[in-house]
Amino acid sequence: MLIFDKGTKGRRTEYIPACDVPVTELPEGDRRIAPLCMPELSENDVSRHYSELERKTHGVNDGFYPLGSCTMKYNPKAADAAAAMEGFTSIHPLAPKEDVQGCLEVLSTAEKYLCEITGMSRFTLQPAAGAHGEFTGLLLIKAYHRARGDMKRTKIIVPDSAHGTNPASAAMAGFEVVNIASGPDGCIDLDTLRAACDDTVAGLMLTNPNTVGLFDKNIAQVTGIVHACGGLCYYDGANLNAVIGIVRPGDIGFDCMHLNLHKTFATPHGGGGPGSGPVGCRADLVRFLPGQVVDRDAQTGLLSFSKEPDSIGDMRSFYGNFLIVVRALTYITILGRQGIPQASSHAVLNANYMMACLKDTYHMAYDETCMHEFVMSLEDLKDKTGISALDIAKGLLDAGIHPPTMYFPLIVHEALMIEPCETESKETIDQAVEVLKALKDEALKDPEDLKSAPHHTPVTRLDEVNAARHPKLRWSAPGDSAM
Ligand SMILES: *Cc1c(COP(=O)(O)O)cnc(C)c1O
Repeated sequence: MLIFDKGTKGRRTEYIPACDVPVTELPEGDRRIAPLCMPELSENDVSRHYSELERKTHGVNDGFYPLGSCTMKYNPKAADAAAAMEGFTSIHPLAPKEDVQGCLEVLSTAEKYLCEITGMSRFTLQPAAGAHGEFTGLLLIKAYHRARGDMKRTKIIVPDSAHGTNPASAAMAGFEVVNIASGPDGCIDLDTLRAACDDTVAGLMLTNPNTVGLFDKNIAQVTGIVHACGGLCYYDGANLNAVIGIVRPGDIGFDCMHLNLHKTFATPHGGGGPGSGPVGCRADLVRFLPGQVVDRDAQTGLLSFSKEPDSIGDMRSFYGNFLIVVRALTYITILGRQGIPQASSHAVLNANYMMACLKDTYHMAYDETCMHEFVMSLEDLKDKTGISALDIAKGLLDAGIHPPTMYFPLIVHEALMIEPCETESKETIDQAVEVLKALKDEALKDPEDLKSAPHHTPVTRLDEVNAARHPKLRWSAPGDSAM
């Protein structure tokens, strides 16, 4: 039931004191024509409504959430506590720099740590998400070639295993996208790459470990081949959770990259909240960085903002999503130099353990040591029983487990992509393995029942096609057309 359908006319929660300043009327033309339609409820009603909604959804606080490619990991509550501190929440972006030195220190320290973690020279904290970071990085690559007068580099190479945002960002930045097929091992095929490289290539976009959860063993050759033809290498850092503190993109030949602070560094992804996709680059690209960078004035000792000389311009207002950076810095500081690589190692161990437990039950798309995630293909099961990856995913819901990523990456048919994350216990993983094994049994013995799963969730199987084709994105009050 919607909050608008609850409550009673005239019911209120009144906390606002009576107005003690003169009331000013809005000019005639700016006033609403129809009265504002608002739900009318008491505080109790509102509080219960949101608790009810909370019970109907599934979050990392409710149970296992093994969503591949979009790390849904446990984020320490301490990071939220830090981001809720008044000194961080009550500032204004136009406050004089003398008043916000602490906040500038957060930005500056976070940038320093991100550089150390990735091997980049500098970062801009402006981009608001991974895809926004990709777009920013591609504009840096474009500016780099332009500044050298090399105008014929119009192509960006993207492997077919890439996240969909990669080719989209390249196209938006005005490049022609050259798609190259992965080898049978899920990694870049070096001969295919060589054949695609010439003096019209501006760069390559790559995530490593890639979207099938494998670390490309030829990575140094891959970046070498692109550099040899004069192109730059862009690292999509969304999968950094697998190698953070262990491998630095800057050390394996990447020239610029983004990080998803909302995947790797203590902000939950997928909640629709604000994100942060900082972009880092090597020294000779720094002069193109967007927006504001924080530097310490040698004379006054104060931190302040400045713009790079050949900046591509602002990518977002002010300094990006500041509180997400506060969370990331808190996370990095809590884990420290030892804890960060430990977290990655546990993420990789958990994924390999779960994959090993399931190997005899489900077909693994790539049967080798994985990184932070692994991909199963249910193509055989579907041929044999009619049960698809979607049916298994829906069956998981009845066991209180959030489904893994389905039907991605596109190069694996009937894909389920599982990323258990570092903070899940052996018991949780064991239980999920049992559920997945039981679902396979059910697929073989009683497929019809599974086809209508889930049966115990607040809503059962939804008409996803209708929802995608005819989305209802806005609620309107009956008869309300004057907004
Ligand atoms: C999530 C993801 C992106 C896009 O990041 P957003 O923050 O969602 O825009 C890009 N590449 C990969 C591999 C991802 O997993």
